[in-house]
Amino acid sequence: MSTEHKMLVFSAREYDREFLTKSAKKNGIELKFVEARLDEETARLAEGYKAICIFVNDLGNEAVIDKLASVGVKFIALRCAGFNNVDLKAAEKHKICVARVPAYSPYAVSEHTVGLMLALNRKIHRAHMRVRDGNFALNGLLGFDMHGKTVGVIGTGRIGALTAKALLLGFGCKIIAYDKFENDELKDLGVTYGSLEDVYAKSDIISLHCPLMPETYHLVSSETIPKMKKGVMIINTSRGALIDAAAAIEALKAGQIGAMGLDVYEEEADLFFEDLSNRVITDDVFARMLTMPNVIITGHQAYFTREALNNIADTTMGNVLSFFGGKGCENAVFCDRIRKSKRMIKK
Ligand code: NAD
Repeated sequence: MSTEHKMLVFSAREYDREFLTKSAKKNGIELKFVEARLDEETARLAEGYKAICIFVNDLGNEAVIDKLASVGVKFIALRCAGFNNVDLKAAEKHKICVARVPAYSPYAVSEHTVGLMLALNRKIHRAHMRVRDGNFALNGLLGFDMHGKTVGVIGTGRIGALTAKALLLGFGCKIIAYDKFENDELKDLGVTYGSLEDVYAKSDIISLHCPLMPETYHLVSSETIPKMKKGVMIINTSRGALIDAAAAIEALKAGQIGAMGLDVYEEEADLFFEDLSNRVITDDVFARMLTMPNVIITGHQAYFTREALNNIADTTMGNVLSFFGGKGCENAVFCDRIRKSKRMIKK
């Protein structure tokens, strides 16, 4: 087998091995898995591989990219949609192609988003623990009808649009959305678009579905939270740094935020995807959120369905084959071979 059809997979867990191996076999690609997260120390493991595969919390800063280039890496296959963890300028400097999986199952993420809303509203996490303990009292479990409530959806791309539809058509919520690009199909269904200020002022629930970029960093902050309705529910299944968690804690303590559901956290790289149950959590911000009855946190699992993992594996292998086949790669976020392509996304 040609060395070009070999790929090193960082941050590999059991489920990654299962799904990626199945797809790699179909496509004649040889994989080696390492559990280590890509960082400045572990980049040297890529020696002998032209292609590597990484996930959301692998580190792709300039120093790491420099090291990868020095050991001969030419292709970085992100097995996720977001690419905020890779320095594309550094990749461009070394002519390393970076590709991603733009969509694998927006249904998975939007369904998890609605799941967090329902669980928080009806306190299902607390009710489950009570009933297991033989406590059938209802005090403290009071929720509200989702029907007729206003949900603010920030970012109406693939996931945001599905979330808006599920809430509009399934629950009878009113949807007020904010995006730079308005979605006509959603408007025809009855979604109204407004400014961010409108979304903050009118929403009972705010759900974040925009990418992490300099302009969306700490979108939910001590400046914006006071503009929201008192008791607002905030859901973030997008990227952790959209929320300033320290500011959210203060607002939760004051009752300005009534409930918060997170699948992502700004400092999640040191926590998520690991079994840390025998250790003390040293991140005091994260630990404080865990003490709150009106906060639910899941460990970046919104994408985690069978369908999504199959799609991620197949698209990733397709990306590897097309790059090494000399065709460039249609899912590239940076690729020197298609420098002028409209498909290339600049940060
Ligand atoms: P998408 O590219 O289809 O949609 C993103 C939308 O955000 C676009 O409509 C874009 O116009 C809009 N947008 C861009 N800048 C904006 C801004 N400043 N304010 C408001 N909207 C803005 O992406 P998607 O597939 O729907 O994914 C959305 C987010 O979900 C991404 O950040 C991705 O990283 C995250 N995600 C999380 C998981 C998970 O498991 N938790 C899985 C997949 C994706």
